[in-house]
Amino acid sequence: MTALTLTNVNKSFGNVHVLKDITLEVEEGEFVVFVGPSGCGKSTLLRVIAGLEDASSGEINIDGQQVNLVPPSKRGIAMVFQSYALYPHLSVRGNMTLALKQERQPKAVIEERVAKASRMLNLEPYLDRYPSELSGGQRQRVAIGRAIVREPKLFLFDEPLSNLDAALRMNTRIEIANLHRALDASMIYVTHDQTEAMTLADKIVVLRDGRVEQIGSPMELYNNPVNQFVAGFLGSPS
Ligand code: ADP
Ligand code: MG
Repeated sequence: MTALTLTNVNKSFGNVHVLKDITLEVEEGEFVVFVGPSGCGKSTLLRVIAGLEDASSGEINIDGQQVNLVPPSKRGIAMVFQSYALYPHLSVRGNMTLALKQERQPKAVIEERVAKASRMLNLEPYLDRYPSELSGGQRQRVAIGRAIVREPKLFLFDEPLSNLDAALRMNTRIEIANLHRALDASMIYVTHDQTEAMTLADKIVVLRDGRVEQIGSPMELYNNPVNQFVAGFLGSPS
C-alpha cells in the first residue's frame, strides 16, 4: 500500500519555479529521506505535502485519496520543523496537548497519548517546564512529541537535527530510527547531510534545483549513481 504519491507536482512563487515535475512514492511504513543542497526546494516540497502551501499543478495522494484541497489538519500528517516552533507561553504538556484539544479529543485520550509519548522520548520530568527552561535537544524532543501524540500516519521532519551539536545529533538520529521502528508510520526526513541520509533511509530521493535527480536505496545510489552530481553528493567513488 502506498502512503503518499506525488505526480508531476510543480510549485512556483510568482515567476520563480521552485518545484519541477516532482513524481515519487512513499510506501506504508517506509523511511524516505529527501536530500539535496540548500535552496533546492526540500522545505517547499514538505510544505506542499503537508498542505501549508498549495501545489501550482500536479496531484498529491495520501492513502489513495487526492488531497490537493484537503486542509493540513485533515491530511493525517504531522510535521517537525527545524526551528522546533514551540509555543513559548505554553509548558511542555501544553505544547503537546494543544492540537489534541483543538481536535476535541477526550481528556483521557489526551492524557494517555501524552504519557506514552513522553515515556518514549524521556520527557516525563519536563512536562511542567517551559521551552525557555529546556536545552536544544529537549526542545527538539518536545517538537517530536507534539507530532507523535497526534498519531499521524505520515511524519515529515525538516532538518530536525541541524540546530544540535554533533554528539546530540548522533543520539537523536538513533532515537528517530527507534521511533520509526516503534511507531508503525511512514516518515519523510529532509536533510542536507549525506551521512544522515545514508544511515536512516530505506529510500533516498536526491533533489537538485527543484527536480528529482534519482530515487533509490542507499546502496543503489552509492553503487549506481545516475550522474556526477549524485555521485559527488553521496560520496560514492565514481
Ligand atoms: P531548501 O529547504 O532545500 O533549502 P527551500 O524549499 O527553502 O529550499 O527553498 C527553495 C527555493 O524556493 C529558494 O530559492 C527559496 O528562495 C524559494 N522560496 C521558498 N519559499 C518561498 C516563498 N514563500 N516565496 C518565494 N520564494 C520562496
Ligand atoms: Mg529547508
